[in-house]
Amino acid sequence: MTSAPQTPVYLNGQSNEVIVSTSPASGRKLGEVRVTPLSELPSIMQRAREAQKAWFEAGLAFRLEVLRRWQENLRRDFDRIVGMVVAEQGRPPFEALTEFLTAIELIAYYRRSARRALAPKRHFILLDPHHQHWTVRQPYGVVLSITPWNFPILLSVAPLVAALVTGNAVIWKPSEYSTQVAELLARTLRGSGIPEGVFQLVHGTGEVGAALIAQQPDKICFTGSTATGRKVAAAAGERLIPVTLELGAKDAALVLEDADLDRAAHGIVWGALFNAGQACLSIERLYVMRAVAEPLIQKMAAVIEKFVTVGDGVAPRVTMGALTTQAQLEIVDRQVREALASGARLICGGKVLEGHNGRAYAPTILTDVTPEMRLMREETFGPVLAVVPIDRPEEGVEAINALGCGLTCSVWTRNRARGLALMERIEVGHASLNDHIITASVPQVPWGGVKNSGYGRSRGVEGLYDMTYAKVYSAERFAPLPRELFWYPYTPFKYNLLRRFINVYYATTWRERLAALFGR
Ligand code: NAD
Repeated sequence: MTSAPQTPVYLNGQSNEVIVSTSPASGRKLGEVRVTPLSELPSIMQRAREAQKAWFEAGLAFRLEVLRRWQENLRRDFDRIVGMVVAEQGRPPFEALTEFLTAIELIAYYRRSARRALAPKRHFILLDPHHQHWTVRQPYGVVLSITPWNFPILLSVAPLVAALVTGNAVIWKPSEYSTQVAELLARTLRGSGIPEGVFQLVHGTGEVGAALIAQQPDKICFTGSTATGRKVAAAAGERLIPVTLELGAKDAALVLEDADLDRAAHGIVWGALFNAGQACLSIERLYVMRAVAEPLIQKMAAVIEKFVTVGDGVAPRVTMGALTTQAQLEIVDRQVREALASGARLICGGKVLEGHNGRAYAPTILTDVTPEMRLMREETFGPVLAVVPIDRPEEGVEAINALGCGLTCSVWTRNRARGLALMERIEVGHASLNDHIITASVPQVPWGGVKNSGYGRSRGVEGLYDMTYAKVYSAERFAPLPRELFWYPYTPFKYNLLRRFINVYYATTWRERLAALFGR
C-alpha cells in the first residue's frame, strides 16, 4: 500500500484552525478554509432563526426570484465549479458535468413546480359544510444540512434548494473533503441576493456537525455513511428533531439469461465504476444466471480494458479518477485482499496503481465470493465488482434483500414483465430495468432508500414536503352559527340524527343504504 498524505484537516478547537484541501491524484494544494469555531455556533443559529421569519414572509415569488438568480450564477460559474470538482476529487470532467446537470435541473424543476406543489389543498367536509379547511406546507424553520464529499454539487444543492424554496433558513456543513467546491457553490448562492443569515456555511469535521445538532435545528438533512447516520439519528432522536437520512448501501444488479449481454456489460461496468465506485448507488454486487455468467464476465473485462483509463481527472482521456480519501483506498484494498485470501478469484484489477499520488485503484472484478466475506457484507465504496453466479433469479432477489440495506438495484432482461415482477420484490428505493443510476439523475422523482440506507426523501415533490410540515387551517365559510353541532348540549335528537347519518352514509351497498334511510 502506498502511503499518500491524507487531505490534511487541522482541528483542535482553536479559532485560527484551517482545513487544507489538496488534489487526491496529485497532492497539489487547492486552497484552505477556516474551521468554524464551536463558540460561534450559537450566534449562527440565532442569526438563522431571525432571518428565517422574514424569508418565509417575503413569499414564494421572492424566493423563486432568488433561486432564478442562483441558477443563473451557477450556469455562469459552470467551468469553475466543474474544474474544482475535478481538482478536489480527481474525477473526469464528464462525471462532474453530469452531476452539475442534475443539480441545475433540480433548481429549474423546483422553479417550475414549487408554486403548484406548495399551493394550499382545500377540503370539503360533508358534516361540516359551513367551514373551510385547507392544508398548507409550513417550513420547519432552520434546516441543518450535513453533506458528504462524493457528489459535492448535487448532494449540496438538493437540500439547499428544497429547504430555501419552502421558506427555511439553512445552515450547511459540507464534508471536510469538499470544502473548495462548497466555497464556490456558496459564493454563487450569496451572489443571488439571498438575505443575510438565511444561508450560512459552516466548515469543520464531524465534531462541528455534532455540535450543530446540539444547537437544536428544526430539521436535519443528513447524507453520509450508515455509521454516521446512526449517530445523527440518535442525537436527533434525543432532541426530537425530524431527520432525513440518505445513507450508504451495497447495491446490486441481477442479470437473467435473456439479457442483452453487450448492453449489460457496458451498463454494469459503468454503474460499478462511475465516480471510481464512490457512489452510494454503485453496483457492488452482481447476481447473474450461471449460464451467462462467464460470457458476461469476459465482456465486462473487455469493456474495462477498452474504455476505462484510470488517472487524474484533469488529464485528457482519463475516464476513472483516483479515490478521494486515503482512508477509503485502504478500506477498498483491505476488502479485496481479504476476499482473495478467502478464495475469491480475481478477473482483473485488485491493486493500487503506481503513480497518481498512490490514490488510484485498478478497476476490479472478482468472482467465487461468499456472503461471509466483508467484501459482500460491507459497503466497498470503490471500483470493485463482485460477481455471483446463481441458478434461479429468486436466489438473486433473496441475496439482495438479505443484506439489510437498499438504495438502488437493476434487473437486466429482455422480458419486461418478468423484470418488473422481480423489481417489485427487491426492497430498495429505486429499481431500474436494463439501466442503473438513471433515477439519481432525474430530479423530478423522489430520492432515498430503505432499511439501513436511510429514510425520508429528497428531490421531487416529496423533497419539498420533506422540508415542511402539514399545517391545517380552518375558518367559517359563512357567518358563524351561534353554536356548532358537536358542542353542548348533547341531546337525544342530535345523537339520533348522527346515528342515522352513519348508517346511511357509510352503508356499502344501495340496498343497505335505502334500508337504513327508510328503516328505523
Ligand atoms: P461520513 O458519514 O463520513 O460524513 C458525512 C458528513 O457527516 C460529513 O460532512 C462529516 O463531517 C459529517 N459527520 C461526521 N460525523 C458526524 C457526527 N457525529 N455528527 C454530525 N455530522 C458528522 O460520509 P462520507 O465519507 O462523507 O460519505 C460517504 C458515505 O455517504 C458513503 O457511505 C455513501 O454511501 C454515503 N452516501 C449516501 C448517499 C445517499 O443518497 N444515500 C449519497 C452519497 C453518499
